Amino acid sequence: MPWRRCGGNLAGGTHHAYAHKGGGFCVFNDIAVTARLMQAEAWRHQRQTLKVAVVDLDVHQGNGTAHVFAKDPSVFTLSMHGEKNFPFRKEPSDLDVGLPDGCTDEPYLAALHQALQTLQDRFDPQLVIYLAGADPHEGDRLGRLKLTMDGMQARDRVVLDWAWQRRLPVVLCMGGGYGHDIETTVQVQMQTWDVALGYWRLWQGWHNRGR
Ligand SMILES: [Zn+2]
Repeated sequence: MPWRRCGGNLAGGTHHAYAHKGGGFCVFNDIAVTARLMQAEAWRHQRQTLKVAVVDLDVHQGNGTAHVFAKDPSVFTLSMHGEKNFPFRKEPSDLDVGLPDGCTDEPYLAALHQALQTLQDRFDPQLVIYLAGADPHEGDRLGRLKLTMDGMQARDRVVLDWAWQRRLPVVLCMGGGYGHDIETTVQVQMQTWDVALGYWRLWQGWHNRGR
């Protein structure tokens, strides 16, 4: 099946949009639309409800996504974000990890490992939507966290490796990025795609072996 791989959108990640209203630079929630479209496709082909996990690592909480799927057991929403960042009134996700101002690589990555473990203890996903916001980087104007360039790359590897080890297809979208220096934001995003390309290659090798 073509969707059992690693793909993405060079934009997107509009997680502040609700079903009934926009918010925080977001008009429509592309994560919700993607999840619903993939579920419709799975239902058409396999007559099963596809279980989708949203791993939202943008520095801002995924309030719109959390609200859309609040009562939907087929979609698990995980948001790891700066606790004091926008939105100031957060919507409860299935799992929220609010990090303190100035959080650095090491505690961030520890929290991420823990969050993914909790996700898999509570939910058995078949598809992962990864919102790889560039705004937890230390050079971001809006984010209140302090991840280095290496820390951001490690973050991407943790998520994509976790998904690959479980052979879970991943859809990436970019989310926010507001660097003091725009080049830095681009570099963070390029790094994400570079890591993703490595996992895309692993998928191709796996499929070519006729699995
Ligand atoms: Zn953001």
